[in-house]
Amino acid sequence: LKTEIVGVVGSGLIGRSWSMLFAAAGYQVRIYDTDPSRMSQALEEIKLQLQDLDKRGLLRGELTADEQFSRITIATTLEECVKDSFFIQENVPEDAELKKKVHAELDKYIRSDAILASSTSAILPSIISEGLAHRNRFIVVHPTNPPFYAPMVELCSAPWTDPEVMETTRALMKEIGQQPVTINKEIDGFVLNRLQYAILGEGWRLIRDNVISVEDFDTVMKHGLGRRYAFMGPFETAYLNSEGWKVYSERYADMIYRIQKSFGEPEKMVGPTLDKVQEECNKMVPMEKLQERRQWRDRRLTALAKLIKDM
Ligand code: NAD
Repeated sequence: LKTEIVGVVGSGLIGRSWSMLFAAAGYQVRIYDTDPSRMSQALEEIKLQLQDLDKRGLLRGELTADEQFSRITIATTLEECVKDSFFIQENVPEDAELKKKVHAELDKYIRSDAILASSTSAILPSIISEGLAHRNRFIVVHPTNPPFYAPMVELCSAPWTDPEVMETTRALMKEIGQQPVTINKEIDGFVLNRLQYAILGEGWRLIRDNVISVEDFDTVMKHGLGRRYAFMGPFETAYLNSEGWKVYSERYADMIYRIQKSFGEPEKMVGPTLDKVQEECNKMVPMEKLQERRQWRDRRLTALAKLIKDM
């Protein structure tokens, strides 16, 4: 068991996940939320989730479910949450003004050697941290949802972040069982969302132009590309598909370039294509069955996590 404390600010979906991940690695976790009912809800839900993971043999780390749960406590003020913490993970709603306000307050209470991390999905680190006295200690640590089953985290520094903050955060993420990647320069959407939106954008155009249905497009991903991507990335895939990248380039570069040039302009997701996508998705999964389908998705993610763990 560790004596070091992690402060988790905001106890919604993502704050809860972080709390579980740090507790599983043996850290003491202090959660703070402006809405006290969210914190008690968070504790109840974490307890249930830990029991469920235990039943499925998917608990992380060496500690029992009860030991992990007892690592997590509620802080009644923001100051109490962070003043002794060596690492702070902020998870308040995705609103730049709110994040700036919360970080300005955190700035008053944190240790000067602490690391101040934000889970933001798309606000640049320099925007959140610009005015902070401790701006050299700030870093974006953007998780994938759900962090417990999709362990990749994007790390992105601001130009003034100490290089040591990146190194320490990378090591910490590995230690708690996540898979960190370093985004070397600030860029809108970091990498995961740029990639996700590139796929959605091309899908949108193909569906708009009646090249393929929504259901078949999703089939291309889940029974085609996705099968490999669950354990191997596109660059390694191409590398294996020929005798290395030089050969891949000789064979396919012209064809790929021709096809890439045929991609259309980005289009805002509104209008008749939106109606079509909504209607077809509703046929696949009726809106009243969304909750049932989410539970099914989480069970499949659990099964996949187990498979990959045993690989
Ligand atoms: P959420 O709405 O579930 O939780 C936000 C929590 O912050 C709420 O409990 C709220 O009461 C609390 N809060 C609001 N103001 C606060 C303040 N001033 N101080 C302390 N707590 C405050 O949101 P979420 O889905 O957990 O998202 C949190 C962050 O994580 C966002 O920046 C989001 O972009 C990012 N993120 C979300 C996902 C996702 O899929 N949900 C994935 C990656 C990153």
